[in-house]
Amino acid sequence: MKIAVASGKGGTGKTFVATNLFNVLSGRGEKVTLVDCDAEAPDDLLFFEAGKRDEFEVTHQVPVISKDACTWCGRCSSWCNYNAIFYVPTAKVIEVIENLCHGCGACSFACNSGAITEKPVVLGTVTSFTTSAGSPLIESRMRVNEMSPVRVIKAAIKEAGNEGTVILDAPPGTSCPFVQTVDTADYVVLVTEPTPFGLSDLRQSVETLKTMNKKCAVIINRADIGDNGVKDYIEEEKIPLLAEINYDPVIARCYSEGRLITSEDDKIAGLFASLADKIITEHGTGSNKW
Ligand code: SF4
Ligand code: SF4
Repeated sequence: MKIAVASGKGGTGKTFVATNLFNVLSGRGEKVTLVDCDAEAPDDLLFFEAGKRDEFEVTHQVPVISKDACTWCGRCSSWCNYNAIFYVPTAKVIEVIENLCHGCGACSFACNSGAITEKPVVLGTVTSFTTSAGSPLIESRMRVNEMSPVRVIKAAIKEAGNEGTVILDAPPGTSCPFVQTVDTADYVVLVTEPTPFGLSDLRQSVETLKTMNKKCAVIINRADIGDNGVKDYIEEEKIPLLAEINYDPVIARCYSEGRLITSEDDKIAGLFASLADKIITEHGTGSNKW
């Protein structure tokens, strides 16, 4: 089972939930893998002592254009959906803007003159660790200056395989990196906070998940602050409420110091254990799949 832990906005406690859920399942001796899909700012590793097992680079193929062979037909430029080919035939200028290139190969296919070859460009890395929790953590990390982490995220999720429970710590927002992550998930846990910002971003996440026909449930973090907007909304949408976690300075301190509260507080470890069971139960019920 793949569980994506996501949130519309950063700072709601998504990583807090993902890492502690992983820690509890690992502690129960279950086969579980944590994948840090927030490739632009991965930080799950901060919470574990971990030994590196393996690392590989994720690349894509970027076109290289030979001006000598080019007949200045312009097909490559017009086929490129990402405006990654700067083409001014009157000035005999044709250049690939590598940072905009998505490596789709359309320009190579379009060129009938054999003027385009391709070269690999590194987008980021996928690194596997064995954690102090005893189970593997796979980290996606995008190379600085790249435009999109999607391929790196995809490679990290693939590396995790399909055995046992795979927890995907999703990137914030609802754009391509989020979609790529939740697309492979059987169930999505949305972590939110009871504020107008939290509600606004939760709505966007839910609307995106509806279009993907994905099951989801909600955890309200810092549930004792803010207002009732989130609760009213999820009731209206018939989205299961998995848990409410009140603001607690002890949890906040523990998290800010890079420690896992489920390793230190039995009561909270129990809460996360029942959370894991609830996720499996809710997933089995088939509720709220749009
Ligand atoms: S590979 Fe795709 S994105 Fe890159 S320049 Fe060619 S058409 Fe554009
Ligand atoms: S499709 Fe080929 S020949 Fe035409 S402009 Fe592009 S590189 Fe030149």
